[in-house]
Amino acid sequence: MTQPACYPISEAFAARARIGRDDYQRDYAQSVSEPEAFWGRIAQRLEWFRAPTRIKDTSFALEDFRIRWYEDGELNASVNCVDRHLATRGDKTALLFEPDSPDAPSQRISYRQLHERVCKLANALRALGVRKGDRVTIYLPMIPEAAVSMLACARIGAIHNVVFGGFAPNSIADRVADSTSKLVITADEGLRGGRKVPLKANVDAALKLPGTDSVETVLVVRHTGAAVEMQMPRDRWFDAVVNDQPAQCEPERMNAEDPLFLLYTSGSTGKPKGVLHTTGGYLVYASYTHEAVFDLREDDVYWCTADVGWVTGHSYIVYGPLANGATALMFEGVPNHPDVSRFWQIVDKHQVTIFYTAPTAIRALMRDGDEPVRRTSRRSLRLLGTVGEPINPEAWRWYYEVVGDSRCPIVDTWWQTETGGILISPLAGAIDLKPGSATKPFFGVQPALVDAGGNVLEGEAEGNLVLLDSWPGQMRTVYGDHQRFIDTYFKTYPGTYFTGDGCRRDADGYYWITGRVDDVINVSGHRIGTAEVESALVSHPKVAEAAVVGFPHDLKGQGIYAYVTLIAGEANSDALRRDLIAHVRSEIGPIATPDHLQWAPGLPKTRSGKIMRRILRKIAESGSSELAPEQLGDTSTLADPSVVESLVNERLRR
Ligand code: ATP
Ligand code: MG
Repeated sequence: MTQPACYPISEAFAARARIGRDDYQRDYAQSVSEPEAFWGRIAQRLEWFRAPTRIKDTSFALEDFRIRWYEDGELNASVNCVDRHLATRGDKTALLFEPDSPDAPSQRISYRQLHERVCKLANALRALGVRKGDRVTIYLPMIPEAAVSMLACARIGAIHNVVFGGFAPNSIADRVADSTSKLVITADEGLRGGRKVPLKANVDAALKLPGTDSVETVLVVRHTGAAVEMQMPRDRWFDAVVNDQPAQCEPERMNAEDPLFLLYTSGSTGKPKGVLHTTGGYLVYASYTHEAVFDLREDDVYWCTADVGWVTGHSYIVYGPLANGATALMFEGVPNHPDVSRFWQIVDKHQVTIFYTAPTAIRALMRDGDEPVRRTSRRSLRLLGTVGEPINPEAWRWYYEVVGDSRCPIVDTWWQTETGGILISPLAGAIDLKPGSATKPFFGVQPALVDAGGNVLEGEAEGNLVLLDSWPGQMRTVYGDHQRFIDTYFKTYPGTYFTGDGCRRDADGYYWITGRVDDVINVSGHRIGTAEVESALVSHPKVAEAAVVGFPHDLKGQGIYAYVTLIAGEANSDALRRDLIAHVRSEIGPIATPDHLQWAPGLPKTRSGKIMRRILRKIAESGSSELAPEQLGDTSTLADPSVVESLVNERLRR
């Protein structure tokens, strides 16, 4: 049976949506023809100490390079995320905390309580000598203190650098050293799926490594209550330093272009980069995209399952939702603990209305079938979202039909750490959905496709995705290495920002991300996107997940090498291998026929759940020769190194 390729706008949804079809057309046209008028108007959604009059001053031309938004404006991000709501939403829940164990009580933190906690910590940080412009590393589990810490830094103008709580000492040390942080905020332990994560011990180990001498103080949140070694006078208990502080704290007046935070990318393609975001443009962009893309309403219970250690957690758990006065759920645990219904149980428990997650989580849950989902209600849901990787149409349909009961539109949001917020996504009241497509650009965003020579391609085309002009949420520099910023993003196709992603635009002007450009495979002169072949494999009923890479091939230039994970309970066999290869052939065409297919009990992923194809490429390229670990490149962001080992060992038996 053929599946619909297009899901028209839901009339029920559109009837109440903030942005309708005509609004989108009209506002998009204005946003690109008169960006100053458009973004000047949108900036009024924030509270400024001094309203900006100079809205946009940007140029991607190398000889004249600059990115400045709202440059004469002054504001404070924590005031916008907290103080501003006290008059109208003081008792509204800002953060709804759901702990790792379903038996532990959830917590509601009102805007008033959040204000007090942020002010107290901000005062404590000042008392510990942290000043405007100093860097603070935050290495915490998904607990309210993570958001409180970010906002407290923002209040005093310190630049936060959140490091995902799943990272090991080496990765913490790299990020502390690169940012020369003065203070680290951590917890005794984290909890994930009932397992304890020794956060404080990891920080201790990290701070023994070279380059970390800048750290003067370590604040330790008591979370599990485990006994940890406190090293005096460096280490201080968080509650002890915070408790005696006044509940009011004068916010720092920040220029719009003053740094707000620093965050390292997830490392899918190489060594992570220290991405720097500034205050005004970032906050305008995070809050506006959050309201528009998620069609936010006052009574929504909004849940983004990302970790605050990733940009999604920054923009769409903390800054966007709180700047909008929303109720944001923070979940400490994992989707499969105590069982694979956990996400949906939480949706029912807190009557979540908007749910935003990653394709990797959807594919993992799909492996366990429909029943764990069907046994929950999910009636409260009205909108679903995804981010992080291309979503295979198969996974999209499962998400739509099973999780959303064919009732909730899905926003497939394409963006990057570097972009600060969503750049390409449906607006569910305005744009028909096509599974696997991020659809259309957000206001002010001007995507274009270029060929290898940098020529802009018109109409239906496939090429490298670039952006022709700036948007307020754009990163401003690679921390400590402005030249690397220019070289990485603006030199490949001069005059444009190069995303590193490949993309196809269809006859309706819809954008389809085909994967990283580095991952595109060239078979006998035909460019084949990894996402397309992977989607064909995943559409086979026995396949849960697949990753495809190129390898040198005598005749074709490059051949196709596929790694396949089967759904729970399916056994591999040579017959199934032949069947899968034939399946891809019939879905896409003979040109996409995989030359090799290796069974993969697991795939190498970043800690944020993205497939690291560069490692799979190394394995595929190595053929039958030896493969030393150092030949695999930077593996520090790998979630589970043992997966790679087994793929290396198994490769000869493919
Ligand atoms: P690094 O830059 O260090 O290699 P990374 O690119 O994985 O790491 P992120 O900024 O977290 O770091 O991820 C952005 C990338 O994720 C995008 O460039 C794109 O490849 C992919 N991506 C994100 N959302 C989507 C989406 N909705 N559809 C397709 N791809 C997506
Ligand atoms: Mg990237």
